[in-house]
Amino acid sequence: MGTENPSRPNYALRPATNPLSAPPSTTPFLSSGPVIRSEASAFRPAPPTPSQFPTPPFSSGPLVGSEAPGFRPQPSVRPSELVRPPPLTQSSYGPPTTGFQRFPTPPLPSADHMQHPRSLLSGPPVVTPPTRPQGGSVSSQASSYSQPQPPSISMGSPPQNIKTGQIISNVPPSIDRPFSPSRQNIQPISPPMGPSQATARGTFQPAFPGYVSSQPYSSAQVPSVRPAPFQSQPGGYTPPAPPATFLAQPRGYMPGPPVTTSSVPYSRDQMQLPGMAPPIPSQGLVEDFSSLSLGSVPGSFDSGLDVKALPRPLDGDVEQKSVAEMYPMNCGPRVLRLTTGGIPNSQSLASRWHLGLGAIVCPLAESPLGDEVPIVNFGTTGIIRCRRCRTYVNPYVAFTDHGRKWRCNICSLLNDVPGEYFAHVDANGRRVDLDQRPELTKGSVEFIAPAEYMVRPPMPPLYFFLIDVSISAVQSGMLEVVAQTIKSCLDNLPGSPRTQIGFLTYDSTLHFYNMKANLDDIFVPLPDDLLVNLSESRTVVEAFLDSLPSMFQENMNVESAFGPALKAAFMVMSQLGGKLIIFQNTLPSLGVGRLRLRGDDIRVYGTDKEHSLRVPEDPFYKQMAAEFTKYQVAVNVYAFSGKYTDIASLGTLAKYTGGQVYYYPCFLSAIHKDKLRHELTRDLTRETAWESVMRIRCGKGVRFTSFHGNFMLRSTDLLALPAVDCDKAYAAQLSLEETLLTTQTVYFQVALLYTSSSGERRIRVHTAAAPVVADLGEMYRLADTGAIVSLLSRLAIEKTLSNKLEDARNSVRLRIVKAFREYRNLYAVQHRLVGRMIYPESLKFLPLYGLALSKSTPLRGGYADAQLDERCEAGYTIMALPVKKLLKLLYPTLLRIDDFLVNSSAPADDFDISKRLPLTSESLDTRGVYIFDDGFRLVIWFGRSASPEIARGLLGEDFGADFSKVSLSQRDNEMSRKLMKIFQKCRESDPSYYQLCHLVRQGEQPREGYFLLSNLVEDQAGGASGYADWFMQLHRQVQQNA
Ligand SMILES: [Zn+2]
Repeated sequence: MGTENPSRPNYALRPATNPLSAPPSTTPFLSSGPVIRSEASAFRPAPPTPSQFPTPPFSSGPLVGSEAPGFRPQPSVRPSELVRPPPLTQSSYGPPTTGFQRFPTPPLPSADHMQHPRSLLSGPPVVTPPTRPQGGSVSSQASSYSQPQPPSISMGSPPQNIKTGQIISNVPPSIDRPFSPSRQNIQPISPPMGPSQATARGTFQPAFPGYVSSQPYSSAQVPSVRPAPFQSQPGGYTPPAPPATFLAQPRGYMPGPPVTTSSVPYSRDQMQLPGMAPPIPSQGLVEDFSSLSLGSVPGSFDSGLDVKALPRPLDGDVEQKSVAEMYPMNCGPRVLRLTTGGIPNSQSLASRWHLGLGAIVCPLAESPLGDEVPIVNFGTTGIIRCRRCRTYVNPYVAFTDHGRKWRCNICSLLNDVPGEYFAHVDANGRRVDLDQRPELTKGSVEFIAPAEYMVRPPMPPLYFFLIDVSISAVQSGMLEVVAQTIKSCLDNLPGSPRTQIGFLTYDSTLHFYNMKANLDDIFVPLPDDLLVNLSESRTVVEAFLDSLPSMFQENMNVESAFGPALKAAFMVMSQLGGKLIIFQNTLPSLGVGRLRLRGDDIRVYGTDKEHSLRVPEDPFYKQMAAEFTKYQVAVNVYAFSGKYTDIASLGTLAKYTGGQVYYYPCFLSAIHKDKLRHELTRDLTRETAWESVMRIRCGKGVRFTSFHGNFMLRSTDLLALPAVDCDKAYAAQLSLEETLLTTQTVYFQVALLYTSSSGERRIRVHTAAAPVVADLGEMYRLADTGAIVSLLSRLAIEKTLSNKLEDARNSVRLRIVKAFREYRNLYAVQHRLVGRMIYPESLKFLPLYGLALSKSTPLRGGYADAQLDERCEAGYTIMALPVKKLLKLLYPTLLRIDDFLVNSSAPADDFDISKRLPLTSESLDTRGVYIFDDGFRLVIWFGRSASPEIARGLLGEDFGADFSKVSLSQRDNEMSRKLMKIFQKCRESDPSYYQLCHLVRQGEQPREGYFLLSNLVEDQAGGASGYADWFMQLHRQVQQNA
């Protein structure tokens, strides 16, 4: 998406009708009649068709009645333009009207509040255009309405950009202003974790403020800090030397003052290392590269290549450790990984690096227990930042002038130390208060942001649900599972008691629900009744969710007015922002945003038009996504249909709003409910950072120039992220701005400014340093395969949106070939190895990951090799995956379990899930039973000659049944209990998705092929190479022009 100018009040596309300020007569809070297809106004009503609108059971209600002015059918609509749902009889239509009268307390907004608004209409069906008809997009009558303010954008710019005092009054009174003066003096302290606390924290990000229990506050003096944990360890780690020693000089490295005390952990020589790029030991070459004999005849296929000796990542992801060892104060690799830890010192050197120079950033990655991100409150001092480049104070700044000044490590400016922040420095330039200053010793900290970091009161967590209730949604059981799951999560939605919630359902019409618990004046409809405070309306919300499935039990409607529903949701949410969670079961068929079947034309594949199937056809979705982002709405899309749903279009909503796409093709409650339940639960209950923006700063001479993932750019380098959580990662590419870098070290700083669920503005800051190197070999030595694969995956998927799949695959292969050729040339003199493939040790798994990427769902094969929707969904998903999760998807875990299951002496929880097997059918013994786990699903494969005892133990009488209809559950025997323990381990190792288990028999096609064989990436399959062939091809191509 295009860049937006942050200084421009970019709300020109303000909807003409503001749902919260407009008079009731113009609200959209009515069920619309049959919606007009693709005309300018989605909400234009159809002429009355009495048969479609059975006599309403009530003649009045809290919602706008038909007497409201302005609800006139537009005469210009010709009947031929209308698409009407099939006529429905009263008996088959809508919920039983008595359904809500059963609700006891509190006095529900009587049944009618939650009733189909359709039923409330006594006159002609009337609808309100929520927007002026303007080409299908939200219309642009801007100025006369009060506008939601953009989030603070002060991260990148000095506070003068912030319109302080311009607080909009659109936030419900229930929301506390979190930054009362006294609050600023509260010192958050995270006490050392006790064991009980540790357990209770479970999988949530402990440092998040949304979980009040995990962030106990107590009064203390400003500034508050949490003791850096490593300093309490006697005899353990000593705080690193002050960065002053190698930072004090504006131009590059200069040795600091003579170091005499023995307490300094580094000798001067060692301290030079970061800046000087650690020397390669003379024997380094031997250690740093690997080679594989490919036979005496180079290029020959089957002579000499020992397939078993090919490198395989059976230990999973291995992080690059060298840079972290050089700079122990760097933030952890969970947060930031560079494709190479060696930053090239010149553009010419950078041009010889073919694997993408950049970083993968996961700003809210979960911290391991005991290593939580410390929270720092500068209180009235204000956050210490560089006056010029706005870098946050960090472990690599240098204090000089007896502690009165500090030098910025990013731009070298000498800043004054504010009086309140002053501390003496010792002979080594170390501040004496270092052990109370996590921001000066830890690579990751979180600052409490004062009022100037907000332009409106921090928003409350808000969840708005847009639920398809057409026939397939009901019959698949989706509606019931969704309603039950949302209800079960109500206690755990972050941000209580401020959390807001609302619902809208749709088929051919839209149905709004008034959730207000107490309606004193029920005849005056309030638009904001559609969004309520959860704790105030809890009973109503629960009652609604209980009755939602039965309300539509008899619904025969097959249509989907998705686009109009989306626009209505936008109007409801635009005042506050929040998370919009969409459950879509069919192809949107009515109104604006209506989509058509495409993608079934095999002739398009392999042509220049192929990519167009993978991008949205109708600009409506991209425009809506842009609007959502502006108003701080993140969109998550859950899609369920087995038929074409155009995920390419729907997913756009998630892509540009920092959201996520979940896909359950052919959803059937009986089979898929556990997966949906778990994933929806995580989505709703994981801690979330709201209305956030992220920027990555880096030192002079380098600049991040492109970003890849699910977000929208607000300016050249400011990522708008309406919602972020620990499961989202972003890639960024780095360029050298200057021909030659004169510094010895490059610093990076990721800053995420966000609103916590508890309503505080906070800034999560991660800082890292990396050495500048003058040698390509050093870049290879410090390469990080996981980061490279993550970046290349994103680039390749982006390429499929404008090119053929084949082109995207070729681009991956070409990069690997170029990189290995460059490497070979580097050592051509020393190693004239004939018939050997030479590659850097650090990149030994790159060929296999490259092959796996080419075979992954977004890139594999052609028309027949993946359903279009599946392909698009996988693309959207991978764009957001953190490194470890992606590597596991590309090279999944294969485990043999039959020995363990039958071994009666092995304890049930004793199974080691790290004993992974090569992903080839040669690993499969017909007598064995195996588990395949790619992080998204589990597959159990039963060999043809596997012991029947195992099958009986695990499946009982179901063993002979059709496996597509069998779901595995725990049985009362040791074997079954053991298997469930293994499942549990696999699932707990990464809870971001839930792996549903699929059973497969050897030889049972197409099931075995689909679930397992096509995912054994080392095997030759279809037109794609096996690992050995691929390796040989790379080798031959590396040799060409070598
Ligand atoms: Zn600076």
